[in-house]
Amino acid sequence: MIYRAIIIICLAALGLRPVGAGSPARFRYTQVRMGVSVRITVYAPSEAAARRSCEAAFRRFSELDAIMSDYRSDSELMRLCDRAGGPPVKVSPALWDILNRSAAFSRLSGGAFDVTVGPYVRLWREARKTGAMPSEEALWQACALVGWEKIELDARKRSVRLLVPGMRLDLGGIAKGYACDAALKVLRRHGITSALVEAGGDVAAAAPPPGAKGWRIEIAHAGGGPRLTLLSCAAISTSGDTEQHVELGGNRYSHIVDPRTGIGLTARVAATVIARNAATSDALATALCVLGREKGQALAHAMPGVRVFIRQVEE
Ligand code: ADP
Ligand code: MG
Repeated sequence: MIYRAIIIICLAALGLRPVGAGSPARFRYTQVRMGVSVRITVYAPSEAAARRSCEAAFRRFSELDAIMSDYRSDSELMRLCDRAGGPPVKVSPALWDILNRSAAFSRLSGGAFDVTVGPYVRLWREARKTGAMPSEEALWQACALVGWEKIELDARKRSVRLLVPGMRLDLGGIAKGYACDAALKVLRRHGITSALVEAGGDVAAAAPPPGAKGWRIEIAHAGGGPRLTLLSCAAISTSGDTEQHVELGGNRYSHIVDPRTGIGLTARVAATVIARNAATSDALATALCVLGREKGQALAHAMPGVRVFIRQVEE
């Protein structure tokens, strides 16, 4: 007994903890949320603690999906859209927060990031099913419903007013990153400080694994940049070039649309963004695909704590 105490004191003096004496172990769980595989890795003192905290984090994903999905007609977002053209609508704190941040990214990116693109996105989803280009007329009709300045936000009343009837918001470019951040907050409330949450191309990291400098993350589209990075208390997202696209008339149209034209991107561009949180990295990665390499890099350089890797295949 006394020897064990001495060993623990010696290890503590060296900054180490003996295995089996409450040192956290690694646990990993995967579940499908928001249409993608969500993987949560945590260091926790016991399996019970890991399971409890990760279940709560997955539950937060489900709650946010019920608020933000554009696939579910009963989501809070779609019910808000049903009232477009009417008076302001009071919304939940999460919906308010994500719309407010989306507006900031629209402003920053000169409208390249724009959650009002829903009507265009619908047309391109339809095109994927039918194999036919959206008609000029349909694109024109959609155009009247798109534009981030058509959303009015009232911070005091936490209300949102969509100015034009028929508007359809689409949070697909930011919701997964936002949910990764929210999941980390839930884990922290459960006492988990060392965690990684991955949802599709979006990754949010809390403190690193015990004894490590960061979480080792592979950068999918590094261009000339490094292929691996160590992530700690930060996030990384990749968008573009592109699993989701449609081939029509010899062109490849991405599921990311240029809000100025309504056309799915045809430039072969992929952007990876490292930022302080995953809502930022997710939204910026989408915006940078629209802006392309030069304008994208200029935007990113003006933002503190942001690093970007943009790969563009010239056609
Ligand atoms: P992924 O969903 O593959 O991770 P992104 O984060 O880039 O990729 O999000 C793409 C999604 O964002 C599209 O499927 C669509 O729902 C939405 N979107 C498309 N174009 C834009 C845009 N210009 N601004 C904001 N959101 C967009
Ligand atoms: Mg995105």
